[in-house]
Amino acid sequence: MEAILKSYFGFSAFRPYQKEVIQGILRGKDCLVVKGTGSGKSLCYQLPPLVVGKTGIVVSPLISLMQDQVMALKQRGIKSEYLGSTQTDYTVQHKAERGQYNILFMTPEKACSVSTSFWSKLKTAGICLFAVDEAHCISEWGHDFRVEYKQLDKLRDVLPGLPFVALTATATEKVRNDIINSLKMKDPQVTIGSFDRTNLFYGVKSFDRGPLFMNKLVLDISKYVASGGSTIIYCTTIKDVEQISKALEEAGISAGIYHGLMDKTSRAESHRLFIRDEVQVMVATVAFGMGIDKPNVRQVIHYGCPKSLESYYQESGRGGRDGIASVCWLYYTRSDFAKADFYCGESLTENQRTAIMESLMAAQQYCSIATCRRNFLLSYFGEKSQSEKCGNCDNCIDSKKERDMSKEAFLLLACIQSCWGTWGLNIYVDILRGSRAKKIRNAQFDMLPLHGLGKEYSSNWWKALASQLISNGYLTENIRDVYRTISISAKGKKFLNSVRQDCLPPLILPVTSEMIGENENDSALSEAGKMENLATYFQRRENEAF
Ligand code: ADP
Ligand code: ZN
Repeated sequence: MEAILKSYFGFSAFRPYQKEVIQGILRGKDCLVVKGTGSGKSLCYQLPPLVVGKTGIVVSPLISLMQDQVMALKQRGIKSEYLGSTQTDYTVQHKAERGQYNILFMTPEKACSVSTSFWSKLKTAGICLFAVDEAHCISEWGHDFRVEYKQLDKLRDVLPGLPFVALTATATEKVRNDIINSLKMKDPQVTIGSFDRTNLFYGVKSFDRGPLFMNKLVLDISKYVASGGSTIIYCTTIKDVEQISKALEEAGISAGIYHGLMDKTSRAESHRLFIRDEVQVMVATVAFGMGIDKPNVRQVIHYGCPKSLESYYQESGRGGRDGIASVCWLYYTRSDFAKADFYCGESLTENQRTAIMESLMAAQQYCSIATCRRNFLLSYFGEKSQSEKCGNCDNCIDSKKERDMSKEAFLLLACIQSCWGTWGLNIYVDILRGSRAKKIRNAQFDMLPLHGLGKEYSSNWWKALASQLISNGYLTENIRDVYRTISISAKGKKFLNSVRQDCLPPLILPVTSEMIGENENDSALSEAGKMENLATYFQRRENEAF
């Protein structure tokens, strides 16, 4: 094995996990490999065919990825081709049946549609593994579900006894189990790498799109440009891409742009300029991604929250590939989290919709927490963290201001309780702020004793408080259809119940970036008398109810 590694790939040693996986495959075991991008997963399926002199079948989602791989393998003297382009398929298939390839790539559609006689001819010629690259595409719970991947299980019966190898860079436990079940893997050998990118600093801030923020952004970027490092700025819309690149240009920083509406040549040109350090800044949508392996990206900025933590991890992970300290800032606005409708197309299944909502909720939670960001990410991917604080994220570094928010929390909880906890957050906030919108009047929510009692705070402030109450377990967020509703948890009920006429138990919460500028030191709720009445009112109602 080492000799083959040296002669074909020029590497002198395996990365420790690679050898384990390859040995597993050679023993005929199914394998699941979850390892970060750039960790060398492809070698796990590239090497066994060379060792045993049989063909390895590899399913991959994109023709462009297969083309790149085939080209690189051919340069190393490894015979390979791909199936999925109608022009060349006939010849390739014919050669494959005679065992002329070390590695044969196919799209999942192709793998499911070729005839059984093709597979039996391949078997006769000799195949040694069936690999599924980007295996998270199998799962409806993943961030990149593809229907065709789901049908790959059919091949299990066509290719009995052949080791199946699933590879992915990101997968939560749910997705991992889904991969194992969908591919009907038998007692698979599971290899999971650490998700911890210790050299990356994680930070999150809420922001307003506008000239003030743009100035700050330009300043942040020019610092890194001066020191020779690169920056990627991920935007959620093409409009943002254009706006930011214009602002940078005006400040004398030349930036490449990249998005899905550009034609192929200008995209390739943009990519090339960035990779070769001819521009140091890339402003892009998430279309800019697969296949970027640039070592010296010092800064990855998200201008708007991504749709899932899987995407965030992958995109921010393009920073600091060389192991040198790099920063990942995420800037978000509340409206980023209301985009579920936009992502939930009509053709989606119930599960897929729920998955999208859950992904967004997790991303929102990541933004809202006042505890260690890294630990949150790690636990999201099912990994235990080393300590309570990583010391390399915004929340670990600067201690947040805190204050007693018991009165405000009480109002919000009481409001939810009054409406039986079956609505979305917007309604509760509108009630507290005294809205007389039609929706409120129709439900007679303007008659509630607490209607308008929270008008001293902005909507965003209340929503930020709700996020804190969710993170701290006083509120629970649920998904109903494609709507998010909020209800009071057992802990929240206990808090409500423990309220005494003139004594609310203190509830110390952090003043998060969304709350800054609004009564940071003390409660602004002026009508203390009313609050007390309210407390009695709820006390009585609770007693009646139980
Ligand atoms: P992944 O599929 O996990 O994203 P790749 O298979 O593309 O990663 O490998 C990333 C890089 O690591 C490639 O440039 C590859 O040549 C290199 N690499 C893989 N295995 C080894 C090894 N054992 N020693 C040195 N470099 C390796
Ligand atoms: Zn931390």
